[in-house]
Amino acid sequence: MSETRNLTDPYHGIACPKCHGPTRVIDSRLVPDTNRIRRRRRCDKCAFRFSTRERIVGETDTLAEVEAALHTLENQLRELVTKIHDLRN
Ligand SMILES: [Zn+2]
Repeated sequence: MSETRNLTDPYHGIACPKCHGPTRVIDSRLVPDTNRIRRRRRCDKCAFRFSTRERIVGETDTLAEVEAALHTLENQLRELVTKIHDLRN
């Protein structure tokens, strides 16, 4: 993927995570108390809907976001440990 994308492309360059078809933005809203924009997208090919979150490059995460990410990691680690444990028995 070395070619430059056309900035006027209505799909904004995000491919569908399911079928890699072109997607369209169907809704954009500002996330309250943050400098983020949440976009609702729909695939033109398979109609799959998903969201993306846009933020300024280089902006640091808020403490709440770091805590949420840590919490997710902790849960994933716990699940992994359980799976490994199950595999051994
Ligand atoms: Zn799709």
